[in-house]
Amino acid sequence: MANKNPPTPPSYRPPEAAQTLLALFHAQGEVARLSEREQLFSSLLDSVNAVLWAFDWETRQVLYVSPAFERIFGRSVSLVMADYNEWRDSIYPDDLEYAEQSMAKVLVQGAVEDREYRIINGQGEVRWLSDKCFINHQREGEDRVIIVGIAEDITDKKQLEGELQRLATTDVLTQSSNRRHFFDCAEQAFQTAREKGSALAFLLLDIDDFKVINDSYGHQEGDQVLQRIADSGKAVLRRGDQFGRIGGEEFAAVFPGCTAEVAEQIAERLQREIQRLSFSHGEQTYGVTVSQGLTGLSAEDDSLDSLFARADAAMYQAKRQGKNQIVRG
Ligand code: GH3
Ligand code: MG
Ligand code: MG
Repeated sequence: MANKNPPTPPSYRPPEAAQTLLALFHAQGEVARLSEREQLFSSLLDSVNAVLWAFDWETRQVLYVSPAFERIFGRSVSLVMADYNEWRDSIYPDDLEYAEQSMAKVLVQGAVEDREYRIINGQGEVRWLSDKCFINHQREGEDRVIIVGIAEDITDKKQLEGELQRLATTDVLTQSSNRRHFFDCAEQAFQTAREKGSALAFLLLDIDDFKVINDSYGHQEGDQVLQRIADSGKAVLRRGDQFGRIGGEEFAAVFPGCTAEVAEQIAERLQREIQRLSFSHGEQTYGVTVSQGLTGLSAEDDSLDSLFARADAAMYQAKRQGKNQIVRG
């Protein structure tokens, strides 16, 4: 009788030595794959313009920084791994307190994503960093607090922002504040003066017979006059004063902490500076004069507009009275 159920052949088992060899090949493949992955991570971490880092909060020890640290900080990875002060000492002194306090917030919030501060790198250059940080939750039962972060070099972005801000707030011809920016700053100065009960003076300046200059010597010549008057304004004003071109040939200034009497002395100096300017067009030389209207903050002023209106009325009075003078309103 035929055997219906032939015995199943024993499964093939390679000899022991071959098994070991196979395991070895397998392990080597795994090592190669891991090393390939490590190389990939390493080159990725190196090419992004950001430092990935890990920090032990209790021991204040840097546990890891990615290779970009050397490029961005211009300092050695091994030194910062040995001593956290290598990082701390790079921080721009004015930003150090902020950098430390904002990192400490991570303990409460779990994540702090809006930290921006400056460092001075190994070459002495100031760089801006956006340094986000997060609590890294360790395995259960472990009470070690590890903070991980990503510090991105945002210097180029900051420079661009600064340039855009400058373009948006500056009058192209005279490089002084434009009308909108001047009134924004004036409004802030007005609010501060009201809150603190401190003095504030407001001044308007209009070039006399400017149309004649344009008509006689051309628009370009007129533009140069505007530039020189703006330069005089900037030279006479003190730090903290605001100066801007608020119209074609009209300028304005705000003097925080200044009474109308003190501001009048500054206005007189400006008047003399402008009278001293000498312009030449071909063979001809000529000068310009200005009329100024000035006023100081009083208890009844509840908006900047009322100061502006008084200074404007004073300026027109100066015009009516024969120009080239300062009137206090
Ligand atoms: P007043 O003494 O009464 O102020 O007379 P004015 O001629 O200075 O005043 P008016 O308002 O009659 O003329 C101002 C002139 O300023 C007219 C305008 O063409 C000129 N102006 C305005 N903006 C500019 C500018 O950007 N460049 C030049 N060159 N001229 C300008
Ligand atoms: Mg005018
Ligand atoms: Mg004028």
